[in-house]
Parts: sequence; structure tokens; C-alpha cells
Amino acid sequence: MSLHKWVRPNVLALAGYVPGEQPSPRQTLIKLNTNENPFPPPEAVLTAIRETSRGDRLRLYPEPSARLVREAAAAAYGLSPEEIVVGNGSDDLLTMILRTFVDPGEGVAAPDPTYTLYAPLTQLQGGRFIPVPWAGGERFELPISALADTGAKVIFLPRPNAPTGHVNSLEEVARLCQAAPGVVVLDEAYGDFAMDNGLPLLPDHDNLIITRSFSKSLSLAGLRIGLGFMSREIATQMHKVRDSYNLDAVAQAAATAALENLSTCEKNTRIIRQERQRLTQNLQERGFQVIPSQANFILTTIPTGKRDGEGWLADLKTHGFLVRYFGSDPNLADKLRITIGTPEEMDRFLGVVDQLLENNQTG
Ligand SMILES: *Cc1c(COP(=O)(O)O)cnc(C)c1O
Repeated sequence: MSLHKWVRPNVLALAGYVPGEQPSPRQTLIKLNTNENPFPPPEAVLTAIRETSRGDRLRLYPEPSARLVREAAAAAYGLSPEEIVVGNGSDDLLTMILRTFVDPGEGVAAPDPTYTLYAPLTQLQGGRFIPVPWAGGERFELPISALADTGAKVIFLPRPNAPTGHVNSLEEVARLCQAAPGVVVLDEAYGDFAMDNGLPLLPDHDNLIITRSFSKSLSLAGLRIGLGFMSREIATQMHKVRDSYNLDAVAQAAATAALENLSTCEKNTRIIRQERQRLTQNLQERGFQVIPSQANFILTTIPTGKRDGEGWLADLKTHGFLVRYFGSDPNLADKLRITIGTPEEMDRFLGVVDQLLENNQTG
């Protein structure tokens, strides 16, 4: 077979993104590995989803630009619908951004370590991915001039960052926008869990794009919905590269209802923030180091002892918990990323950690 002659070289070269494990519904594992929300979506969202099965809504194509979603988002976030583009998950928006701005061979930069999807998405688009180490070691300062000096057409910055959970100041973000030779994408997939967000920067920086996800704070990872906030001029270009009907009718109905019921999710967010604080403190008391997080997960350095990262991953799984381990990255090989669950899940998790630490000493 002449596969290597037919397939684009950049596709052949791709290793492919490895997402966190999704166990089969029959398994009773508690998922603390892909930063989903432990609470269900608001009842109004479920009602809106059921409503889409009535009348002609599923027989007909959905509204191509998700106009009602953009109007609801504009009302919720104080923007105009023309400044909003909707994605099939915020990952879809990242692809649309690369399609809009990056020609083959052009650079795309991000501080490192960061969200592991940026590199393969860039390579798929024929771009060159340029990781730039965070400045100041584990103080994770934004390497503004190093990022700007790459000449990248697109710079990705998650805020809060994945997988560290840390947040750079908005003042640093503003300086990056000024220094950048292209667009800056502030990836706010975890923005709702943080103390502030980049929206106030939007009017003053015409190269800034902010992306949001419904997968984490709004409990809708299964539906794939994301929002992009940007200037009208950029939005006009982004609409041209969108898949024509990128958000299906069910997702549009759910997204609109979610945006009209944000307060329900805000209550869940407050609980997750409290549990984040409690997990951080409890792990620190047990000898783990924890990077201060403003997301719905924490990144923790495991204490020295018999059990390494692989060992913790396996033993936690035996006791019913999935967490995320990025062992192939030397910067992360002694760390685990743990999603914040419900208070009950966190109680059980800490109980298992205590049990494993005890085995660590005596075994
Ligand atoms: C989860 C995540 C996304 C993707 O969100 P979806 O809306 O589910 O596509 C984007 N960026 C970061 C940093 C994430 O962690």
C-alpha cells in the first residue's frame, strides 16, 4: 500500500493527541482525570435539549452561525453578537483560529508546559509549533519577549494554564498583546473558576481573541460547545473558515439555555473552588507540593518515597480513582493532575491517599 505517498507528510508525522481515559459506563471509576464538572447541567438545559426533538428542529439544518447562542452570550458577557463566534467545543475555535491566521510553515507559539493539543492542531494546519519555557521556573512568569521574538502568527496562552492551574496577571497579558507580532489567544477554558478574566482587555487590544468552553464550568463536555470573543473584523474572517453548520441544533438549544441560567452553574463553581482549597491544604499536610490553582484541578508533586507517578496512577485506579499523569514530559514526570470532584468524592479520595501513604511506609 502506498499510504506514505497518499497521506500528507504532516499527518503521517503526527503522533495524534492522547486524551485522558474515558472508562466504559459499566466501570465505577471516579473520573478526576479530564477536568469535567462533577455536577449535572441545570435542569433548564435538559428541558431545552428535550424540546429540540419536537416539530421540525431536527429535520431542518441548524442556524449556521448559532445566532441565538451568540445573542444569549452577548447579553451574558456584555458584548455584541458580532463579536462572538461559536465553536463545536472550544477546540474547534482553536482550529478555526489557525485556519484564519497560519499559513504552512508559519510559527505558532505557546509557553511550555501548556495544553497539549496546541502542538498537534498547529501541525495539522501545516504550521510550526514553538514551545517557549515559562520564565522564573515554577513561578511560571510569562516569557513575553521570548514569545514575541518567535515571530509567531498566533500565541496561545491558557489562563488559568493547563496543566499547572496558575494564572498570569492581566497586566502581563496586556503587555503580551502589545509585544506580539500576531494574534494572542487567551484560552479561558477554566476562566470561570478564576478570580478574574480577560474580557476587560478586549476593547483595547485588537489582536486579542478570548476562548471559553462549556465543558468545564458549565457541565456540558458531552455536547461540544465553545465561545470565541474578538473584534468584529476578526469574527467576520473566522466565520468564513467555520464548518458551515459547526454547532448542531441540540447543542445550540442547550448552549442558549445554559447562558440564560449561569447562576445555577455559579453555585457549583463556588463549591469546586472551596474543594480546590481543601484538597490543596490536605495534600500539603500530607507532604505533597501543590501549585496554587485557579482552575478546577490541581497539579501536585508527589512526595518522595517508594511510589512514583506511574505507581500512584495505578494504585489510585485500583482504588477507584482516575487521575492524569503526563509521564512523558520530564517537567511533569513527578506530578499528578487531579480534577476537583464533589465534596464526597474528595473525602473518599483523601481517604485513599492516606491508605496508600500508609502502605508506602510499611510496605
Ligand atoms: C478542556 C480545554 C479546552 C477544550 O475545551 P472543549 O470546549 O471541550 O473543546 C481548551 N483549552 C484548554 C486549556 C482546555 O483545558
